[in-house]
Amino acid sequence: MSGKKPPFPLLKDGKRHDGRGPMDLRPIQMKVGILHNADGSAWVKMGRTEVIAAAYGPREPPMKAMILPDRAVIRFRYHMAPFSTDERKSPAPSRREIELSKVIREALEATILTHLFPRTVIDVFAEVIQADGGTRTAAITAASLALADAGIPMKGLIAGVAVGKVEGQLVLDIDQVEDEYGEADMPVAAIVGLRKIVLLQLNGVLKPDEFLKALSMAWEGLKRIYELERSVLGSKYKGV
Ligand code: ADP
Repeated sequence: MSGKKPPFPLLKDGKRHDGRGPMDLRPIQMKVGILHNADGSAWVKMGRTEVIAAAYGPREPPMKAMILPDRAVIRFRYHMAPFSTDERKSPAPSRREIELSKVIREALEATILTHLFPRTVIDVFAEVIQADGGTRTAAITAASLALADAGIPMKGLIAGVAVGKVEGQLVLDIDQVEDEYGEADMPVAAIVGLRKIVLLQLNGVLKPDEFLKALSMAWEGLKRIYELERSVLGSKYKGV
């Protein structure tokens, strides 16, 4: 949403700049159990956006002061690797990363059965390896898969996707160019099986009817991502 004119048309003959139709997701790949040294881990690639997530716990908190007597404490870190962006990003956490860490943590708290593990901590780290738009939604999908891979009980898997508006048209799963030159970016994450939205943000401008349409487009995308998550986790994790 730079307000600048795109260097090439974002929509031509109903197709987006990468050839997708408005309702097409980017090609998605997912894997779980990719890291030896984490209790659970996952890798999610949506187009060129690539995120890995690692989950640890439930384990004893490093500091007594963190302990909650009735539930587990959830900690989550969203971080972009310095090499993930076109220009090297400082490895120090930015305000954006700190805020995203907080809102994604709150989304994860909505699904993790924290009351089953009082006096413990569950840590989740999401590292953006390659950024091309939709990193927060890929991070939340990866985090949910890593938690499932760690065997941490959840109400259901979370999936995330962003809907955008480019040249007046709503489009699903926007990439960086569509985000940069588009008119709106609306990331949504949900516990799909329970029909519960746990994260919803909007940058840019949408009319109320466009907002409702964007939400139903996001929901279609989330259902597809959720089915993929379930098939990647396989029979071992049936029920999430
Ligand atoms: P999201 O990745 O969730 O869509 P934003 O809308 O904030 O988050 O960012 C859109 C895209 O802009 C990112 O995916 C990334 O490709 C790029 N971007 C974001 N922050 C930076 C940064 N600090 N340096 C370079 N590129 C960035």
